[in-house]
Amino acid sequence: MQGRIEKVSGPLVVASGMADAKMYDVVRVSEKRLIGEIIEMRGDKASIQVYEETAGLGPGEMVESTGEPLSVELGPGLIEAIYDGIQRPLTEIRAKVGDRITRGVEVSSLNTEKKWAFKPVKQKGDAVVPGDIIGTVQETPVVEHRIMVPVGTEGTIEEIFEGDFTVIETVCRVKTDDGEIKDVIMRQKTPVRIGRKYKTKLSPEVPMVTGQRVIDTFFPISKGGTAAVPGPFGSGKTVVQHQLAKWADADIIVYVGCGERGNEMTDVLMEFPELKDPKTGEALMKRTVLIANTSDMPVAAREASIYTGITIAEYFRDMGYSVAIMADSTSRWAEALREMSGRLEEMPGEEGYPAYLSSRLAEFYERAGRVLCLGSDEREAAITAIGAVSPPGGDISEPVSQGTLRIVKVFWGLDAALAYRRHFPAINWLNSYSLYTDRLSKAMGDATEENWNDLRREAMGLLQKEAELEEIVRLVGVDALSLEDRLVMETARSIREDYLHQNAFHEVDTFTSLEKQYKMMNLILTFHNEAQAAFREGAEFEDLLKVPVREKIGRAKYVSEERMAELDELIQEIKDQVSEQIPKGDLPYA
Ligand code: ADP
Repeated sequence: MQGRIEKVSGPLVVASGMADAKMYDVVRVSEKRLIGEIIEMRGDKASIQVYEETAGLGPGEMVESTGEPLSVELGPGLIEAIYDGIQRPLTEIRAKVGDRITRGVEVSSLNTEKKWAFKPVKQKGDAVVPGDIIGTVQETPVVEHRIMVPVGTEGTIEEIFEGDFTVIETVCRVKTDDGEIKDVIMRQKTPVRIGRKYKTKLSPEVPMVTGQRVIDTFFPISKGGTAAVPGPFGSGKTVVQHQLAKWADADIIVYVGCGERGNEMTDVLMEFPELKDPKTGEALMKRTVLIANTSDMPVAAREASIYTGITIAEYFRDMGYSVAIMADSTSRWAEALREMSGRLEEMPGEEGYPAYLSSRLAEFYERAGRVLCLGSDEREAAITAIGAVSPPGGDISEPVSQGTLRIVKVFWGLDAALAYRRHFPAINWLNSYSLYTDRLSKAMGDATEENWNDLRREAMGLLQKEAELEEIVRLVGVDALSLEDRLVMETARSIREDYLHQNAFHEVDTFTSLEKQYKMMNLILTFHNEAQAAFREGAEFEDLLKVPVREKIGRAKYVSEERMAELDELIQEIKDQVSEQIPKGDLPYA
């Protein structure tokens, strides 16, 4: 069925004669066959968001519905790919048509000629249900791609093949209960705007360890959790994201970049492929899918990119993997939403954003989570979603930040002032939060020592006390503080400098296991408590601060994981050196 263009307004095309089309159908616009999606239907008029430049289109040109929703192709070949917002492979397009994407090019998202070595894990006669893994492909040295029975196919394996196949060749034949034979290929197609199916959602009680001390200790995230990071310019947002991509306990990384200026995205495209995966020594790209949008790409593709990204993430989740998806930035994405809404002449909400902004944000973050996957085995997997927000002027009272904060459970408040003081990672410990802390406390405690949560609370208490005392110091000077309060200030400084400061570029400091985090924190607080007791027994404040072991506490972060047992020996050293400062004559039992 064909309609005709009535009106073109930037990325929005209105077509009439479309009565048979459905919401969210993909359409082809004009002879150029530009890709679009129906986002509103009124009578026989369809409003279409077009994912390509619409310049030169005019009324009367034809519009054709494909009758299918916007979908992604899933299968071997996803890893290491760089896609645009509607999953067109940028590298292949560049090879085909040069640097600028020409309109209407048709390139399939997955390479259909490349052969992959398929190894069956099921055999003839096995009963299978949707989600069951029937075989594997070693997609990269670090990712085993698990081929699953698609939704809608169920029965007994009639034939299964081993060998080299393209993603569109049959690898398995399943006989359904009513005798029909269904061919299974490695490629699946899934609509992007609804989540892929799973069995049940599980509660987020497994920590996703990141090796970043400020995050794991104070603002932990769970597998399947959701987090937001605001990113004022120069606050170290890129470094934080890279650190998470490298070190977080996730098998697969999906990075969705909605860049501001063209070059900002180019940075990501240049930098990401350079990153090394510290766990395997391979390139990080060997377990990464990149989705990139620059401002010179059409705004509508940006709107779609976040759905494309999360659908790819869901597909790897369904294989049983822990997936981390990073969206940078959701503010740019929301602006695309705002622009389309404006063109549709919808009633604007706050600051011109559509009233459904919050629900759209929620729809994205709700697709994160820890789940039991489809299939007859008990496969657990998770998607952890981390969204960067870039509020104009760094003011988080604006709608996108507020909408996001209402949904996500973790907020890592990157702070330009801390970055200016070279406190990295510049996560502000006073305004950041994690609603998973209590849920995860048991798991974190199990991974360390019983009293981990007490230490964590004590340390945060000291940091908060420091903020109060600083206020007093600002008003009346440091001399107004009691010596005990000055010890609090000293310990808080030690927590900040010896613990929270973490150099992403230092070989050892870049990652700290939970166990070592515990040992480091224990040193700082043991010193604090010993010093406080000694002070009460008459030790000189200044002398306590000068005990030589303090320098070792400061250097604990550079002690490698293999040698961390050495940190335990410092506990006795602290006790000995501090007690030496207690005046002998005054020993209470002397
Ligand atoms: P943004 O992306 O927010 O503009 P970047 O992530 O590029 O900022 O960080 C700016 C600079 O801050 C980096 O080049 C680096 O020198 C420094 N930096 C940020 N985080 C860290 C860190 N964890 N350790 C050491 N240096 C850091």
